[in-house]
Amino acid sequence: MADPDCLFCKIVEGEVPAEIVRQGERTVAFRDINPQAPTHVLVIPRDHHPDAASAAAHDSGLLDALVRDAHEVAVAEGVDETGYRLVFNTGAGAGQTVFHLHAHVLGGRGLNWPPG
Ligand code: 5GP
Ligand code: ZN
Repeated sequence: MADPDCLFCKIVEGEVPAEIVRQGERTVAFRDINPQAPTHVLVIPRDHHPDAASAAAHDSGLLDALVRDAHEVAVAEGVDETGYRLVFNTGAGAGQTVFHLHAHVLGGRGLNWPPG
């Protein structure tokens, strides 16, 4: 289920290079090109879904796998005990710029609340 015009589908397919840190059965995790924290990894489903709500509506179980795999990334990065933030920007008004579902895994520094 790849979208030929989607940047993250191209990363899944290996057509666009990325620093991949984990290959899961249903997900791929790679470092964000413009990191906002010492750990900033994007965890994406192999299948194309524009956002989390769409994935939840069309593929029950996918978000469970995504969150499990995001936690494994946090463990591997050594930020699970200090704490990490999992972010799904949904919609342009919330800062979403790539419309292939991705969880940001952010950690390795103090994270303020409320977010900007
Ligand atoms: P959004 O703003 O949609 O929540 O997050 C998209 C993220 O993708 C941004 O943090 C941005 O830095 C990252 N990004 C955009 N293009 C690329 C790319 O080509 N490679 C990687 N590794 N990250 C990218
Ligand atoms: Zn895609």
